[in-house]
Amino acid sequence: MKDPRVLFLREVCGFDRVWIPNSNKLFRLYLLEREAQKCKRCPLYKTRDKLVFGWGNPYSGIMAIGEAPGPDEDKLGKPFVGRAGEFLDAALKEAGIDRERDLYLGNILKCIPVKSVPSYNGSSAVVMDKFQRKSFRAPQTGEISSCSGWLEAQLNIVKPKFILAMGNPAVQYFLGGGVNITTIVGQPRKIRNGQIVLYPVMHPSFIVRQKTPELENRYIEYLKKFRDLVGDLIPK
Ligand code: SF4
Repeated sequence: MKDPRVLFLREVCGFDRVWIPNSNKLFRLYLLEREAQKCKRCPLYKTRDKLVFGWGNPYSGIMAIGEAPGPDEDKLGKPFVGRAGEFLDAALKEAGIDRERDLYLGNILKCIPVKSVPSYNGSSAVVMDKFQRKSFRAPQTGEISSCSGWLEAQLNIVKPKFILAMGNPAVQYFLGGGVNITTIVGQPRKIRNGQIVLYPVMHPSFIVRQKTPELENRYIEYLKKFRDLVGDLIPK
């Protein structure tokens, strides 16, 4: 992948010899997102409304990574909105974590994976659910590998010390396909040569779908343990 800073300087400023410090994470992420907006590396670009890149504080040292944008995120271009996002915000708050201040949030895929059917003209048509929203489906392996360059570039800029991995696709991206969230939830693992601590939890949309207060409370307890794990990275 070409350095997005150079692309930006060539396209917008008309020159390519300006030094942007590596410490300017916000600007580097802005440039990266600008490039990602043009991405056609997998067919999902055809069915997205808005690409959902990332959100939050890239200086906190903590990244929260989910699966892929859902219909609400696809409309707004922001990760973790809608019912699952509201639940996540409330659960984080209970655990003493402020989403905007303490996390940089993103997804494995940047575009919504949708169910589609062949249409009469040879292209494909998006399947809508009973609420007339795009029908979400699980990300496919090829889509994840096509999109991984964007996530790796985000990781390279943010350089998190901790990753809150939410749901199976996020956990499996880092730990391998044989791992299941149910067997390792709440158990931190060192990854990337011990540079990052990965903390697996369920995806908030799974918790919302279950509608079980007991499960919601358990989710908050997992987040409280994560809060304790990161220590001083989150102010008291
Ligand atoms: S999902 Fe990722 S790889 Fe596919 S079009 Fe969107 S940004 Fe590009």
